[in-house]
Amino acid sequence: LSKLQAILYSAVNMGGLEVRCLKITRTSVFSHSVVHLVSSADGFSHGFSTRTGGISSVKTLSSLNLFCSSRRRDPRAVVAENLRRFSLEAGFHPHLFNLVKVNHASDVWVIGKEAPDSYDGIVTNQANVVIATPGADCIPLLFVDPVAKVVGAAHAGWKGTLMGIAMATVNAMASEFGSKPADVVAVIGPSVGPCCFTVERESAAEFHAIHPDCVRDVESPKLHVNIRWATRILLQQGGLLPTHIHDKTVTDKPNITLCTSCNPDMIFSHVRDGINFGTQIGFVD
Ligand SMILES: [Zn+2]
Repeated sequence: LSKLQAILYSAVNMGGLEVRCLKITRTSVFSHSVVHLVSSADGFSHGFSTRTGGISSVKTLSSLNLFCSSRRRDPRAVVAENLRRFSLEAGFHPHLFNLVKVNHASDVWVIGKEAPDSYDGIVTNQANVVIATPGADCIPLLFVDPVAKVVGAAHAGWKGTLMGIAMATVNAMASEFGSKPADVVAVIGPSVGPCCFTVERESAAEFHAIHPDCVRDVESPKLHVNIRWATRILLQQGGLLPTHIHDKTVTDKPNITLCTSCNPDMIFSHVRDGINFGTQIGFVD
Protein backbone atom coordinates (compact mmCIF):
# COMPACT_ATOMS: atom_id res chain seq x y z
CA LEU A 1 0.00 0.00 0.00
CA SER A 2 1.12 3.53 -0.70
CA LYS A 3 1.17 5.85 2.30
CA LEU A 4 -1.95 7.71 1.09
CA GLN A 5 -3.81 4.49 0.42
CA ALA A 6 -2.88 3.33 3.91
CA ILE A 7 -4.22 6.57 5.41
CA LEU A 8 -7.41 6.26 3.41
CA TYR A 9 -7.72 2.67 4.43
CA SER A 10 -7.37 3.47 8.10
CA ALA A 11 -9.84 6.35 7.76
CA VAL A 12 -12.32 3.90 6.34
CA ASN A 13 -11.68 1.40 9.08
CA MET A 14 -12.18 4.07 11.71
CA GLY A 15 -15.56 4.84 10.25
CA GLY A 16 -14.39 8.17 8.83
CA LEU A 17 -16.19 7.46 5.55
CA GLU A 18 -19.34 5.66 4.74
CA VAL A 19 -18.61 2.32 3.14
CA ARG A 20 -21.25 0.09 1.72
CA CYS A 21 -20.68 -3.42 0.50
CA LEU A 22 -18.80 -3.67 -2.77
CA LYS A 23 -20.79 -5.52 -5.34
CA ILE A 24 -19.92 -6.95 -8.75
CA THR A 25 -22.66 -8.09 -11.05
CA ARG A 26 -21.82 -10.96 -13.35
CA THR A 27 -23.69 -12.53 -16.19
CA SER A 28 -23.92 -16.25 -16.53
CA VAL A 29 -23.27 -15.99 -20.21
CA PHE A 30 -19.51 -16.60 -20.21
CA SER A 31 -19.14 -19.00 -17.35
CA HIS A 32 -22.12 -21.25 -18.11
CA SER A 33 -23.53 -20.89 -21.59
CA VAL A 34 -20.02 -21.02 -23.04
CA VAL A 35 -19.80 -24.53 -21.64
CA HIS A 36 -22.34 -25.50 -24.26
CA LEU A 37 -20.01 -24.28 -26.97
CA VAL A 38 -16.79 -25.87 -25.83
CA SER A 39 -16.28 -28.84 -23.63
CA SER A 40 -13.20 -27.52 -21.85
CA ALA A 41 -13.47 -25.05 -18.99
CA ASP A 42 -13.57 -21.56 -20.45
CA GLY A 43 -11.39 -19.93 -17.82
CA PHE A 44 -12.66 -16.43 -18.44
CA SER A 45 -13.53 -14.07 -15.64
CA HIS A 46 -15.74 -11.03 -16.11
CA GLY A 47 -18.15 -8.70 -14.39
CA PHE A 48 -19.52 -5.20 -14.01
CA SER A 49 -18.93 -2.89 -11.07
CA THR A 50 -21.80 -1.18 -9.29
CA ARG A 51 -21.50 2.14 -7.44
CA THR A 52 -21.21 0.66 -3.95
CA GLY A 53 -18.22 -0.28 -1.81
CA GLY A 54 -15.81 2.56 -2.63
CA ILE A 55 -14.65 5.70 -0.84
CA SER A 56 -15.59 8.56 -3.20
CA SER A 57 -17.51 11.04 -1.10
CA VAL A 58 -19.00 13.51 -3.63
CA LYS A 59 -22.68 12.64 -3.91
CA THR A 60 -22.73 11.91 -7.64
CA LEU A 61 -19.46 9.90 -7.41
CA SER A 62 -20.30 7.98 -4.28
CA SER A 63 -18.89 5.63 -3.74
CA LEU A 64 -17.08 3.30 -6.18
CA ASN A 65 -16.22 5.81 -8.90
CA LEU A 66 -13.55 4.29 -11.18
CA PHE A 67 -12.61 7.25 -13.37
CA CYS A 68 -11.21 10.74 -12.91
CA SER A 69 -10.23 13.55 -15.26
CA SER A 70 -9.71 17.30 -15.24
CA ARG A 71 -13.46 17.70 -15.70
CA ARG A 72 -14.59 15.00 -13.29
CA ARG A 73 -12.74 15.71 -10.09
CA ASP A 74 -12.36 12.74 -7.90
CA PRO A 75 -8.81 12.63 -6.44
CA ARG A 76 -6.61 10.11 -8.28
CA ALA A 77 -5.69 8.42 -5.01
CA VAL A 78 -9.38 7.88 -4.26
CA VAL A 79 -10.01 6.33 -7.68
CA ALA A 80 -6.88 4.19 -7.25
CA GLU A 81 -8.15 2.96 -3.90
CA ASN A 82 -11.55 2.20 -5.45
CA LEU A 83 -9.83 0.21 -8.19
CA ARG A 84 -7.72 -1.63 -5.62
CA ARG A 85 -10.84 -2.65 -3.73
CA PHE A 86 -12.65 -3.65 -6.88
CA SER A 87 -9.73 -5.70 -8.22
CA LEU A 88 -9.39 -7.46 -4.89
CA GLU A 89 -13.03 -8.46 -5.05
CA ALA A 90 -12.83 -9.36 -8.74
CA GLY A 91 -9.62 -11.36 -8.29
CA PHE A 92 -7.10 -9.51 -10.47
CA HIS A 93 -4.09 -7.28 -9.81
CA PRO A 94 -4.65 -3.54 -10.55
CA HIS A 95 -1.33 -3.46 -12.44
CA LEU A 96 -2.79 -5.83 -15.05
CA PHE A 97 -5.67 -3.48 -15.66
CA ASN A 98 -6.15 -1.80 -19.08
CA LEU A 99 -9.03 0.64 -19.40
CA VAL A 100 -10.44 1.87 -22.71
CA LYS A 101 -9.37 5.47 -23.49
CA VAL A 102 -12.73 6.86 -24.47
CA ASN A 103 -13.11 8.96 -27.60
CA HIS A 104 -16.72 8.10 -28.61
CA ALA A 105 -15.33 6.72 -31.87
CA SER A 106 -14.45 3.27 -33.20
CA ASP A 107 -10.68 2.79 -32.84
CA VAL A 108 -9.54 -0.50 -31.29
CA TRP A 109 -6.24 -1.20 -29.52
CA VAL A 110 -4.73 -4.63 -29.97
CA ILE A 111 -2.64 -5.21 -26.83
CA GLY A 112 0.97 -5.77 -27.84
CA LYS A 113 0.76 -3.34 -30.74
CA GLU A 114 1.25 0.41 -30.52
CA ALA A 115 -1.77 1.98 -28.84
CA PRO A 116 -3.70 4.68 -30.71
CA ASP A 117 -4.02 8.03 -28.89
CA SER A 118 -7.54 7.03 -27.95
CA TYR A 119 -9.59 3.90 -28.45
CA ASP A 120 -13.03 2.69 -27.53
CA GLY A 121 -12.20 -0.99 -27.91
CA ILE A 122 -9.44 -3.31 -26.68
CA VAL A 123 -8.77 -6.89 -27.78
CA THR A 124 -6.21 -9.43 -26.66
CA ASN A 125 -5.39 -13.12 -26.63
CA GLN A 126 -2.89 -12.66 -23.79
CA ALA A 127 -3.54 -14.40 -20.54
CA ASN A 128 -2.95 -12.44 -17.33
CA VAL A 129 -4.21 -9.21 -18.84
CA VAL A 130 -7.42 -7.56 -17.70
CA ILE A 131 -9.27 -5.38 -20.16
CA ALA A 132 -12.03 -3.05 -19.07
CA THR A 133 -14.38 -0.44 -20.37
CA PRO A 134 -16.09 2.42 -18.54
CA GLY A 135 -19.77 3.22 -18.66
CA ALA A 136 -22.27 5.60 -17.13
CA ASP A 137 -25.08 5.40 -19.71
CA CYS A 138 -22.76 4.38 -22.57
CA ILE A 139 -22.73 0.60 -22.96
CA PRO A 140 -19.85 -1.44 -21.57
CA LEU A 141 -19.59 -4.33 -24.06
CA LEU A 142 -17.67 -7.52 -23.28
CA PHE A 143 -16.72 -10.18 -25.81
CA VAL A 144 -15.29 -13.66 -25.43
CA ASP A 145 -14.31 -16.13 -28.13
CA PRO A 146 -13.89 -19.40 -26.22
CA VAL A 147 -12.62 -21.20 -29.34
CA ALA A 148 -9.74 -18.90 -30.34
CA LYS A 149 -9.31 -17.78 -26.69
CA VAL A 150 -9.66 -14.08 -27.38
CA VAL A 151 -11.38 -11.38 -25.36
CA GLY A 152 -12.59 -7.89 -26.19
CA ALA A 153 -14.07 -4.93 -24.35
CA ALA A 154 -15.68 -1.87 -25.89
CA HIS A 155 -17.31 1.39 -24.86
CA ALA A 156 -20.39 2.19 -26.95
CA GLY A 157 -22.23 5.44 -26.47
CA TRP A 158 -24.74 6.55 -29.07
CA LYS A 159 -22.01 8.08 -31.27
CA GLY A 160 -19.77 5.03 -31.05
CA THR A 161 -22.73 2.77 -31.72
CA LEU A 162 -23.46 4.64 -34.95
CA MET A 163 -19.75 4.53 -35.84
CA GLY A 164 -19.72 0.76 -35.42
CA ILE A 165 -17.50 0.26 -32.37
CA ALA A 166 -19.17 -3.06 -31.48
CA MET A 167 -18.33 -4.78 -34.76
CA ALA A 168 -14.99 -2.94 -35.02
CA THR A 169 -14.00 -4.79 -31.83
CA VAL A 170 -15.23 -8.16 -33.13
CA ASN A 171 -13.50 -7.52 -36.45
CA ALA A 172 -10.22 -6.86 -34.62
CA MET A 173 -10.64 -10.18 -32.78
CA ALA A 174 -11.14 -11.82 -36.20
CA SER A 175 -8.36 -10.13 -38.14
CA GLU A 176 -5.73 -10.30 -35.39
CA PHE A 177 -6.47 -13.66 -33.80
CA GLY A 178 -8.67 -15.60 -36.21
CA SER A 179 -11.92 -15.36 -34.26
CA LYS A 180 -15.04 -16.38 -36.13
CA PRO A 181 -17.97 -14.04 -35.30
CA ALA A 182 -20.24 -17.09 -34.87
CA ASP A 183 -18.02 -18.23 -31.98
CA VAL A 184 -18.05 -14.87 -30.20
CA VAL A 185 -20.24 -14.39 -27.14
CA ALA A 186 -21.21 -10.83 -26.18
CA VAL A 187 -22.63 -9.14 -23.10
CA ILE A 188 -24.39 -5.79 -23.30
CA GLY A 189 -23.82 -4.28 -19.87
CA PRO A 190 -25.69 -1.71 -17.75
CA SER A 191 -26.51 1.30 -19.93
CA VAL A 192 -29.16 3.94 -20.45
CA GLY A 193 -32.41 2.45 -21.71
CA PRO A 194 -34.90 3.84 -24.22
CA CYS A 195 -36.97 4.80 -21.14
CA CYS A 196 -34.49 7.58 -20.32
CA PHE A 197 -32.43 8.40 -23.41
CA THR A 198 -33.32 10.86 -26.15
CA VAL A 199 -31.37 12.22 -29.13
CA GLU A 200 -31.88 14.82 -31.82
CA ARG A 201 -34.06 13.96 -34.78
CA GLU A 202 -31.10 13.61 -37.19
CA SER A 203 -29.35 11.02 -35.00
CA ALA A 204 -32.62 9.22 -34.32
CA ALA A 205 -33.03 8.79 -38.08
CA GLU A 206 -29.68 6.97 -38.15
CA PHE A 207 -30.86 4.62 -35.40
CA HIS A 208 -34.14 4.13 -37.26
CA ALA A 209 -32.14 3.12 -40.34
CA ILE A 210 -30.38 0.39 -38.29
CA HIS A 211 -33.78 -0.96 -37.21
CA PRO A 212 -37.17 0.81 -36.86
CA ASP A 213 -37.57 -0.61 -33.34
CA CYS A 214 -34.53 1.41 -32.19
CA VAL A 215 -36.69 4.56 -32.06
CA ARG A 216 -39.74 5.03 -29.90
CA ASP A 217 -42.43 7.63 -30.47
CA VAL A 218 -41.37 8.58 -33.98
CA GLU A 219 -43.84 11.50 -34.00
CA SER A 220 -42.73 12.91 -30.65
CA PRO A 221 -40.36 15.93 -30.40
CA LYS A 222 -38.28 13.91 -27.87
CA LEU A 223 -37.04 10.84 -29.63
CA HIS A 224 -36.28 7.97 -27.30
CA VAL A 225 -33.70 5.62 -28.81
CA ASN A 226 -32.59 2.14 -27.84
CA ILE A 227 -28.83 1.92 -28.23
CA ARG A 228 -28.83 -1.66 -26.86
CA TRP A 229 -31.18 -2.88 -29.56
CA ALA A 230 -29.10 -1.12 -32.23
CA THR A 231 -26.01 -2.87 -30.84
CA ARG A 232 -27.72 -6.28 -30.96
CA ILE A 233 -28.85 -5.72 -34.57
CA LEU A 234 -25.36 -4.58 -35.67
CA LEU A 235 -23.71 -7.58 -33.98
CA GLN A 236 -26.17 -9.99 -35.58
CA GLN A 237 -25.59 -8.39 -38.98
CA GLY A 238 -21.87 -8.92 -38.35
CA GLY A 239 -22.33 -12.65 -37.84
CA LEU A 240 -22.85 -13.11 -34.09
CA LEU A 241 -25.55 -15.64 -33.29
CA PRO A 242 -28.66 -14.08 -31.66
CA THR A 243 -28.37 -16.58 -28.80
CA HIS A 244 -24.76 -15.48 -28.15
CA ILE A 245 -25.77 -11.93 -27.26
CA HIS A 246 -26.81 -11.39 -23.65
CA ASP A 247 -29.03 -8.34 -23.21
CA LYS A 248 -32.34 -7.43 -21.64
CA THR A 249 -34.28 -9.50 -24.19
CA VAL A 250 -32.77 -12.67 -22.72
CA THR A 251 -35.17 -13.90 -20.06
CA ASP A 252 -33.59 -17.16 -18.90
CA LYS A 253 -30.48 -15.43 -17.53
CA PRO A 254 -30.04 -12.64 -14.97
CA ASN A 255 -30.82 -9.19 -16.39
CA ILE A 256 -27.46 -7.44 -16.60
CA THR A 257 -28.64 -4.72 -18.99
CA LEU A 258 -30.10 -2.52 -16.28
CA CYS A 259 -30.99 1.09 -17.10
CA THR A 260 -28.29 3.26 -15.55
CA SER A 261 -30.62 6.22 -15.12
CA CYS A 262 -33.46 4.20 -13.53
CA ASN A 263 -31.26 2.59 -10.83
CA PRO A 264 -29.77 5.41 -8.71
CA ASP A 265 -28.88 3.17 -5.75
CA MET A 266 -26.92 0.75 -7.89
CA ILE A 267 -25.38 2.47 -10.91
CA PHE A 268 -23.93 5.82 -12.01
CA SER A 269 -25.60 7.80 -14.79
CA HIS A 270 -24.55 10.93 -16.70
CA VAL A 271 -28.11 11.53 -17.93
CA ARG A 272 -29.38 11.46 -14.36
CA ASP A 273 -26.51 12.99 -12.37
CA GLY A 274 -25.13 15.66 -14.68
CA ILE A 275 -21.57 16.73 -15.45
CA ASN A 276 -19.75 15.34 -12.39
CA PHE A 277 -21.04 11.82 -12.87
CA GLY A 278 -19.38 8.67 -11.55
CA THR A 279 -18.26 5.78 -13.72
CA GLN A 280 -18.60 2.03 -13.41
CA ILE A 281 -16.73 -0.52 -15.50
CA GLY A 282 -17.10 -3.86 -17.18
CA PHE A 283 -14.03 -6.10 -17.21
CA VAL A 284 -12.96 -9.40 -18.72
CA ASP A 285 -9.78 -11.45 -18.46
ZN1 LIG B 1 -34.43 4.26 -17.64
